[in-house]
Amino acid sequence: MNIAAWAAQKARQPLEPFRYEAAPLGAQDVEIRISHCGVCHSDLHLINDDWGISRYPLVPGHEIIGTVARLGAGVTHLQAGQRVGVGWQRSSCGECEWCRRGDGNLCEKSQATCVRNHGGFAEAIVTDSRYAFPIPDALDSAQAAPLLCSGVTVFSPLFRHGIGKGTRVGVLGIGGLGHLALQFAAALGAEVTALSSSPSKEEDARAFGATDFLDTSDVAAVKARKRTLDYILSTVHVAQPWREYLRMLRPDGTLCFVGAAPEFELRAGDFTSGQKTMTGSGIGGPRVMTEMLSFAAKHRVLPKIETVPMQEVNAAVAKVTANTVRYRMVLENRT
Ligand code: NAP
Ligand code: ZN
Repeated sequence: MNIAAWAAQKARQPLEPFRYEAAPLGAQDVEIRISHCGVCHSDLHLINDDWGISRYPLVPGHEIIGTVARLGAGVTHLQAGQRVGVGWQRSSCGECEWCRRGDGNLCEKSQATCVRNHGGFAEAIVTDSRYAFPIPDALDSAQAAPLLCSGVTVFSPLFRHGIGKGTRVGVLGIGGLGHLALQFAAALGAEVTALSSSPSKEEDARAFGATDFLDTSDVAAVKARKRTLDYILSTVHVAQPWREYLRMLRPDGTLCFVGAAPEFELRAGDFTSGQKTMTGSGIGGPRVMTEMLSFAAKHRVLPKIETVPMQEVNAAVAKVTANTVRYRMVLENRT
């Protein structure tokens, strides 16, 4: 099957129209006609080869919503015409202890949707059906798209770390991931502070559920927030004064990274004083994805999106690069 897509031919190049021949449909595979695909900052990291793992031509896109067009012979849990979503992960071994307990994101044989495979900036995708998730009827397709990567990436650590009533949560970086993290943390019952370098986002941050807002470009204000939060979820991809954020934690507090921040240095004393924890989290497996989708539908955790035709992909990528999106670009295949 021949698929029309948008690809980077080299690192840091604009995407161009590109056609490729998809692998034949395997027994566990599904072919999805894509209606929408979000633009995640990880797509930019891949286009720019920030992580040294990109292979070109590269078709980004891993916040995919579409309908099932064809099913492999062994697929029994999906039906033709059904609406499904695909995120960062396209498959895993299905047999190891992590896969068996529903945490396939931790599988050693995990494969990414657009690393060595072509992603969702396209008309269609052929992928492993076990990573194509039914979308609750209550969610609109364009709004559901960002949940498949951003949503699960922030919901997973908040859920796993028991965030809820009585937890003082800070969300650092109010972009695609961050604006959903504010909503999930508030819906889980936490008291939420937005930590943002963009004062113009304050009103939106409060509408997403934050009851406090800190302009992180004001270094003195950051320092003044010592011992105020129990948990900080960092969604930023840029260097930050991490020691100050550890100081912002109350005793027993946790700094959790989901954003791909560059390398940094800390010392043991930053953690021993106040017995702090630093941790990280990557996407979420099928169990968390299913939980997140029903939680989002029930609590109306919905991304604020700007929808544009798929053909405007380069303008959308440029907006994400410039941090001017409010708050997620979603590409749409208009027929
Ligand atoms: P995004 O929409 O571009 O948001 C990033 C936010 O970082 C911006 O909105 C901005 O928020 C903040 N920021 C702080 N300093 C900045 C600066 N100098 N320039 C630009 N932005 C700055 O990105 P995203 O899609 O949410 O992704 C964020 C990070 O998470 C990326 O590194 C991505 O690769 C990573 N990620 C990780 C996973 C995982 O599984 N762990 C999954 C998806 C994405 P303010 O304006 O509020 O400061
Ligand atoms: Zn992503």
